[in-house]
Amino acid sequence: MTHPTWPGLLRDAFNATALDDDVVKGARRHKRRGMIRSVGSVPGALSGVVQDGAEFWHVNWRIAPIDEAGWAEIERDIHADPVVMVALLESGAPARTRDVEEILSRLVPDPADLEATCDCADWLVPCAHALAVGLAFAEATRDDVWALLLLRGRGRDWLVVSEAAARARRLLDRLGGRPPSEEVFGPVPSGARVSSG
Ligand SMILES: [Zn+2]
Repeated sequence: MTHPTWPGLLRDAFNATALDDDVVKGARRHKRRGMIRSVGSVPGALSGVVQDGAEFWHVNWRIAPIDEAGWAEIERDIHADPVVMVALLESGAPARTRDVEEILSRLVPDPADLEATCDCADWLVPCAHALAVGLAFAEATRDDVWALLLLRGRGRDWLVVSEAAARARRLLDRLGGRPPSEEVFGPVPSGARVSSG
């Protein structure tokens, strides 16, 4: 396993939206020359700026977020393997176990769910600028998987909260279903009396 799976799958998904080989070649050229000035993701959207000669073009990609049912399934699979949870909670590039690869690959959108705009007004959509931003983003997810999770609708806090909730459920199970507060601040035994002197 020399390369993680998901950046390549993501790159293929963006490339599959190109209507023309020249768009792919142009995008690679922009990327190779380091003309992509910024790339950032928010839930459901990716944006970036590409310098082309003296001009700066603004790119936006709209990407359908994963629905609640889809995320519930992914959350279950993350909780099923403690190694996956730890790998995802680590910052930077996660440990690449087969399960981590599999879960992250499922976050890659279908090309049909990718929709680009660019203010260069090229009649080919996506234009080379838009595709360059997509390809730069795909590469960046190699070391920053959270950019991909965020793009599909979940921030890092989501996993932290989800992990804490799972811990709380396990603790409750161990205590036989009673809230932990009863263990610590239980009722005063009936035999105890406050001394009145
Ligand atoms: Zn453009």
